[in-house]
Amino acid sequence: MAKIAIDLKSGSIKNEDQLIIGIDLGTTNSLVAYISDGQPVVVKDHDGKSGLVPSLIYFPDNDSVIVGNEARPHLINDPGRTIFSVKRLMGKSYADIVDYEHQLGYQILTDDKDRLVKVRVGDRFYSPIELSAHILRKLKTRVELALSQTVEKAVITVPAYFNDAQRQATRDAGKLAGLDVLRIVNEPTAASLAYGLGLAPEEKKTIAVYDLGGGTFDISVLRIEDGVFEVLSTNGDTFLGGDDIDQVIVTYWIEKHRLDLATPSARQALRLAAEEAKKVLSGEDQFTVEFEGFHLDLSRTAFELLIQPLVERTIQSCQAALTDARLTTADIQEVIMVGGSTRIPFVKSSVSTFFGKPVHDELNPDEVVAAGAAIQADILAGNRKDLLLLDITPLSLGIETVGDLMDVIIPRNTKVPCGYARQYTTSIDGQKNLKIAVYQGERDLVTNNRKLAEFILSDIPPMPAGIPKLEIRFQLNADGILQVLAKELRSGTTQSIMVKPQYGIDEEEMGRMLLDSIQNAKEDMQLKALREAQNEGRMMVQSAGKFIQQNLGWLDERQVQEIQRLAGLLGQSIDEESKDEIQKRLESLNAYTTPLAHKALEVHVAGAMKGQTIR
Ligand code: AMP
Repeated sequence: MAKIAIDLKSGSIKNEDQLIIGIDLGTTNSLVAYISDGQPVVVKDHDGKSGLVPSLIYFPDNDSVIVGNEARPHLINDPGRTIFSVKRLMGKSYADIVDYEHQLGYQILTDDKDRLVKVRVGDRFYSPIELSAHILRKLKTRVELALSQTVEKAVITVPAYFNDAQRQATRDAGKLAGLDVLRIVNEPTAASLAYGLGLAPEEKKTIAVYDLGGGTFDISVLRIEDGVFEVLSTNGDTFLGGDDIDQVIVTYWIEKHRLDLATPSARQALRLAAEEAKKVLSGEDQFTVEFEGFHLDLSRTAFELLIQPLVERTIQSCQAALTDARLTTADIQEVIMVGGSTRIPFVKSSVSTFFGKPVHDELNPDEVVAAGAAIQADILAGNRKDLLLLDITPLSLGIETVGDLMDVIIPRNTKVPCGYARQYTTSIDGQKNLKIAVYQGERDLVTNNRKLAEFILSDIPPMPAGIPKLEIRFQLNADGILQVLAKELRSGTTQSIMVKPQYGIDEEEMGRMLLDSIQNAKEDMQLKALREAQNEGRMMVQSAGKFIQQNLGWLDERQVQEIQRLAGLLGQSIDEESKDEIQKRLESLNAYTTPLAHKALEVHVAGAMKGQTIR
């Protein structure tokens, strides 16, 4: 007899056997895995050979779509209808990708630089979310066919540096593919789970995950403590991987034999030969092939010399990641290798030499991320001790305040999930609305940072400037999605938004933004000091005006004129943008009005006391 479990709280039927799958949604290849008898199983294709589903989508016509291996031939014979590297477009605007648009064989819509990218195929337009959903649907079907059961819940991995927009886009793609995405997990976190790191309750370790795939390179430094994963730093290159290694071999052969490659298919054939050479040289010392009448060869030694500069770049990234995390190689206890290109012995030995210890390469480097995603799924399904996965926010998040200044609410490198609140007030009497503009970045002026969202807190009850207590709260959840809440504490008026940024920042740009903030630190600080002096000056001019009005009863004409003269001079210096001059005139005005303010206080107190009897 079948048992039916009912959730007593909600009254709904619990499906105890609900399977949650783990998905590695990659730039070049994607994989799906699940847990069987406590072990991750990567679902293979029908001939049982490979778990990799090439992240390729071919649209033969407007009504059909072919995903994976079967789409591959069309990269050459129908490039305009064959989409690759969708992951690079996730959460991006056209302005974000304009530099590498020429590398894509398909057409990108260019009507508005700031809107999210769309891909044009014939007379149809597809968002990267829709395109990724095709890949996810293929993976979902693959596992459903293999297990003869439907699956609805998934964990999907993303690079550690993915920002809010990219994570949200990945989540949306899952939804579109009919999957309830329970968690977005960082790829290096998944890789360490696959190696069993972080599963023991008292484990404390600092590890490095080196991921060299087909098109991208990532290095992440993680701290594992009591089952909590924290990304200490990330670095890498979004355009460095196996494809570049193939290209180096292609260029070498072209130059050596003065090859003339007239047709795209000849170019493609040579590229495939280069990739084969690379793979063969992972196991053997020599490679030879006949190509259009030429005898092409490559020794392992020659190959290692050719790729040395590329490998060196990855090592420099490793060093940069360590520096960012304020660590040295001696602090790293484990090094995990991820991605097909880490099969190259020279890559392994270079990484091992750099870190001064053997690297983990026991598992299939193509499958570790998917396997780890499945383990995370299993944890979420309640089948393992619950582990909390912690990440960091790579760029600071804050709001715009008076004078275009960035007021940071969640600083860069803060662990997520997290929530921070800060109080503000109004600057104008009777102000009813407050514009809240949310920015991401490290610079002091918001104009140099990236705007994520803007909204209005309305219906603030009219009060004099400075009286309302406005609390702005930032809540960043485990997926890195930001919720902003604004509340006027005296009246309880609230507004909240989920920040789904219009466009994202890629790793390179993030690096540039950080570098900019360092290089411009001095200039930024000067400008910030000027803006602050200007704000103070403006407030002072305003209150001088108010002071005259409120005290006309007893101030004499000479005093009124002197306050006006000094406030006028201050106003002038604010417009002239000279910080020191503003400061000087602020002081003069202050020096003149302070004794008068004391006098005003006496007058008011005397007035208030009048008519009161003191017993
Ligand atoms: P990934 O994006 O992780 O699937 O990595 C795929 C990359 O790994 C491609 O550039 C492949 O050419 C490369 N690759 C796969 N097998 C090997 C191998 N045996 N030796 C060197 N590179 C390999």
